[in-house]
Amino acid sequence: LNNPDNRVSFKEATIAGQAADKGLFFPERIPALPEGFIDQLKHLSKEEIAYTVIAPYVGDSIPEEALRQIVAETVNFDIPLKLIHDGVYTLELFHGPTLAFKDTGARFMSRCLGYFMRSAQQKVTVLVATSGDTGGAVADGFYDVEGVDVVILYPSGKVSSVQEKQLTTLGKNITALEVAGTFDDCQQMVKSAFMDEALKQHLFLTSANSINVARWLPQQFYYFFALQQWQLAVPPVFCVPSGNFGNICAGLLAHASGLPVKHFIAACNENDVVTRYLASGNYEPLPAVATISNAMDVGSPSNFVRILEIFQQQFIALQQQLTSFRVDDTQTKLQLKSVYEQFGYLLDPHGAVGYEALQRYQQTVDAAPGIILETAHPVKFYDVVEPVIGEAVPIPEAIQTQLKKEKHSILMPAKFDELKAFLLSR
Ligand SMILES: *Cc1c(COP(=O)(O)O)cnc(C)c1O
Repeated sequence: LNNPDNRVSFKEATIAGQAADKGLFFPERIPALPEGFIDQLKHLSKEEIAYTVIAPYVGDSIPEEALRQIVAETVNFDIPLKLIHDGVYTLELFHGPTLAFKDTGARFMSRCLGYFMRSAQQKVTVLVATSGDTGGAVADGFYDVEGVDVVILYPSGKVSSVQEKQLTTLGKNITALEVAGTFDDCQQMVKSAFMDEALKQHLFLTSANSINVARWLPQQFYYFFALQQWQLAVPPVFCVPSGNFGNICAGLLAHASGLPVKHFIAACNENDVVTRYLASGNYEPLPAVATISNAMDVGSPSNFVRILEIFQQQFIALQQQLTSFRVDDTQTKLQLKSVYEQFGYLLDPHGAVGYEALQRYQQTVDAAPGIILETAHPVKFYDVVEPVIGEAVPIPEAIQTQLKKEKHSILMPAKFDELKAFLLSR
């Protein structure tokens, strides 16, 4: 995005993560969906839909048969659309191996990178900062993938206990660095590492954050799966709990390529830089603050520049398609409790932010029916959820085993020099 003359293949973009000038990769053109595709949606398999959506972005970087295989392994879990009550639906994105929506992007990216690395001489080190769910999804996606080492930075004490176990108990090619700082500190350290010449000489580094196109682009899939299950005549409003804005940006991209959507809502917690931007036109990032929906504790969302690009920097056009609300922890807890008590549906804190945002939109702007993207299973945040509903959240078997495993992390101050020394020693 910093230099339109810098053209690369999908393969180069996936391996590099971001351009040498720190710019994010973005499709040269936004492809239009094949004619009749949307009308056919209900008759197509998830694999077929996902393949059709992603193929134009991958181009000839991966042959058809291999790409179909990657896509099939990416979407091999349920993504059901459920009714919470009249006009409010939930798209459950948490049926993947780490119970978070990031499984889709991480599974796709790890398989693409694994495919590209088969013919490579050198090992690649995936360096990733996480505010919670990225780490687990990436660790699971890349676990034991040949030719790939993974180093995860997470803010100490600011991720849930389930999340922490998911990224610190695997071992093998997965290393967790526990940073004494915030997610923004972790992200900054990772960004500095990618710019560092000495590190570049020593290691072949890439990222697995949503800035990587191979994580970002497949997140379009489930917007199509939602529409496939949608029974109403008017297209849905999508309400997306947002932090780094990769998820909603994928939805906006799908819409730009032809997916029918009535409107998008970015549901934010107290980290509301985009909410303020849409109200004032001024983009003023602030340091991240800690909330109970911690996977959205991002002060300066990376994918914001991609959203501007989709709308060709036209503020009014963006405002017409995207609304944002800021939801604080008190309101989040109130909705979590009330939705559970009134409708028997247990949201996680991120989904509860989404629910409150959709309520506000429906009550003050447009009563159109909407879908909340439920981005994580409530059990991942049982430390928050249980005191609010006054009940225990049953822990799925798969997670129970992981919770009993011993945590292995390396403590590190929030200083790039420390990260550099660690990476140089590998
Ligand atoms: C990562 C995450 C988000 C935020 O998604 P972005 O793509 O960064 O906006 C929301 N909810 C959960 C549970 C997450 O893990």
